Amino acid sequence: MQYVGVPVMVRLFWTRNLAIAAFRAAMATAALISYTLFAADTRAAEVPVDNGAAVVMYHRFGETQYPSTNIRIDQLEAHIAELTSGPYTVLPLPEIVAALAEGRPLPERTVGISVDDAFLSLYREAWPRLRAAGLPITVFVSTQALDSALPDYMTWDQLREMVAGGGVSVGNHGVTHGHMVRQGHETVRAEIADGARRLRQELGITPTVLAYPYGEYGLEIRNIVQEQGLVAAFGQHSGAIGRTHDLFALPRYPMSENYGDMERFRLAVNSLALPVTELTPADPLLSAATNPPFYGFTVAEGITGLGALNCFASRNELTLDRLGERRIEMRLGEAFGPGRARINCTLPGPDGRWRWLGQQFYVPVEATAQR
Ligand SMILES: [Zn+2]
Repeated sequence: MQYVGVPVMVRLFWTRNLAIAAFRAAMATAALISYTLFAADTRAAEVPVDNGAAVVMYHRFGETQYPSTNIRIDQLEAHIAELTSGPYTVLPLPEIVAALAEGRPLPERTVGISVDDAFLSLYREAWPRLRAAGLPITVFVSTQALDSALPDYMTWDQLREMVAGGGVSVGNHGVTHGHMVRQGHETVRAEIADGARRLRQELGITPTVLAYPYGEYGLEIRNIVQEQGLVAAFGQHSGAIGRTHDLFALPRYPMSENYGDMERFRLAVNSLALPVTELTPADPLLSAATNPPFYGFTVAEGITGLGALNCFASRNELTLDRLGERRIEMRLGEAFGPGRARINCTLPGPDGRWRWLGQQFYVPVEATAQR
């Protein structure tokens, strides 16, 4: 399948309409039945296919001068209404990752709400509404912004008030909100350790989860986070979380004014993981030798209908190769340009839900040399 310069979500919805028309009957009957049978029959299977989570990510609320990181209040209220409508279980991120790490089951349609950077509009606009709705949130805090008393950000007192009020957990987001992929390893270690120390000093909390600033990470940064004793780390790429996921490369669905409508929100919070193994390349921080990446994975047994799998790359053409029954590999038309790049793969799942596997790459300037 090709991606030719159409925004991913637009393409996805276009694909979705066609796919729904083409597959709904089949998925709603045969696939749902086989899925149910699979789930019931294979408790000992190596790769459970369900009981993951979908995590959404916010930054600002009601700050319409920042449309790419903001969500309007009417959109937030619609999201809250959906999440409190019945089928969802909203849990703090530390609880979700602890369950995944310990192999404990999560409820059907588990959703996590994360808010990055501790902007003042979280305290003023979002928290009162989320608290009234009984929805827990996890706030990822870069400590320097609060230590510097920047006007756009919350104060430590406000954050303490939120934590004391219940339903608010706090995660590590480094100290300076720097680009870890451009920092030396000692600096990355200090960002994580010093951020944790300041959160402990101010809040009495030792965070178990981290969000990479800008969602940018590579294999070595991921390993540093694990060495520092955290349980899990999140990026900023779309996708649902499942049991085969690397806990230190977890996806979150970014919510913003353009991507915060109800259709996308429902798609996100109802999404299921696409369980895969043998994911390549091992390091999403690309070099001149690995750009364009040979992205590929093996889909777990029990996942059916792989003929309907679609993958799209940001800013790049993509050709999908199917090797045998379950191995999927992709060839990109050209190397990624510098900065963040993503490949999204989606597959119609049971009950009108979508399986979504997202992968983020980071491309240093020196990895973009023409070859
Ligand atoms: Zn951030």
